[in-house]
Amino acid sequence: MAEIAAPRGTRDILPAEQTAWRWVLETHRRVAESFGYRPIETPIFESTELFARAVGADTDIVEKQMFTFTDRGGRSLSLRPESTAGVTRAVVGARLEQEVRPVRVHCAGPMFRAERPQAGRQHQFTQLDVECIGERSPALDVEIIECAWRFFAELRLTGLHLQVNSLGSAEDRQLYRAALVTYYTPFRQRLCDDCKRRLDSNPLRLLDCKRDADLVAAAPLIADSLSDASRDFFAEVQAGLQAAQIPFAVNPRLVRGLDYYADTVFEIWHEQLQGAQNALGGGGRYDGLAGLLGLPPTPGTGYALGVERILMVARALDALPSAEASADVLVCSVEVEQALQAAGVARTLRSAAARVVLDVSDRRLDRKLRAAGKLGARAAVILGEQELAADSVVVRDLAARSQQTVPTAELLETVERILR
Ligand code: AMP
Repeated sequence: MAEIAAPRGTRDILPAEQTAWRWVLETHRRVAESFGYRPIETPIFESTELFARAVGADTDIVEKQMFTFTDRGGRSLSLRPESTAGVTRAVVGARLEQEVRPVRVHCAGPMFRAERPQAGRQHQFTQLDVECIGERSPALDVEIIECAWRFFAELRLTGLHLQVNSLGSAEDRQLYRAALVTYYTPFRQRLCDDCKRRLDSNPLRLLDCKRDADLVAAAPLIADSLSDASRDFFAEVQAGLQAAQIPFAVNPRLVRGLDYYADTVFEIWHEQLQGAQNALGGGGRYDGLAGLLGLPPTPGTGYALGVERILMVARALDALPSAEASADVLVCSVEVEQALQAAGVARTLRSAAARVVLDVSDRRLDRKLRAAGKLGARAAVILGEQELAADSVVVRDLAARSQQTVPTAELLETVERILR
């Protein structure tokens, strides 16, 4: 029978990789909480309408990349391709911003996008998010960037490049859209089919086109459509980044793929990551998002970082932590017939808070001890027939390669001494 493989674009995170995953997730949680962000979790699937409205019906994500299905009641649902929409729905839906403003939340979890799988691009991937909802201030845009920056510093990742831009207000973007239409209309005939549609429905998307890159390169810049107020806001963000000593470059072509952004947008790139997949993460301000969801208008700012790409970079930089030991003590009997008695000893040791594994195999004792070393165990407890008859066990210090026979009553303290 054919072997069943994992679905295309997905990956298992096997035990040996868990130390590195935990390191990334724990570090992010710690850093986010040091800025006062609290954990939140939202569903992995949402109504398709949520993403159509928030991310934008004619974005690549919603048009081509969502895993959408119909539930038994005929409702259209989608696996979440990103988390800002769901978190905003949850936070503003619960009116949390009426209690404390802003609401600072962080989360980590799987996202789903049906993009062509390749290095750094999967169908299921994991994002770290922070969202700061309920207050509009350039200082908060700086705060979330600083949070990401500090997180990367704690991971000791070097070679990062922060790119920032401003998309201005809704009115600014209206002006910019008009400028793009004026610029692109004479080229309509040579545009790809996607871009012909974008020209009518969502001209900002034209800048995402990979085929007509020459047209994108010469297109008008959003900076020329910004109002004085938007320029001032962006200038304050830049001043804040300077004060925080975070190096950045203004990238006037950075527009980000989603509809809900306004004012500040940013991406963090890494030189280890190549081509279109060079971003470790990105984010920005989304003051119009809550309104798009039919909620009371509520400003917000946030980011998403990709864990798989962070691990790719950490691996390339040799910054990964070494694998953790999974056991402190191995318990085994010389003869398989005593396996249940060995299980009883393991139970006693676990109640003393040690990590204890039981070996019930019929392998030779030296093989069992070698396996204990691979698990990182520092002590082994061996039950032999003779010792059991005398109500004692053999305790072996695996690092010192020494062993002693001790009465069962002294087992705990002997093992504790070795572990200490
Ligand atoms: P985005 O909101 O699309 O900018 O995504 C934020 C981050 O999530 C990206 O910078 C990547 O690190 C990660 N990411 C996005 N899409 C994928 C994917 N298909 N596979 C792996 N990581 C992804």
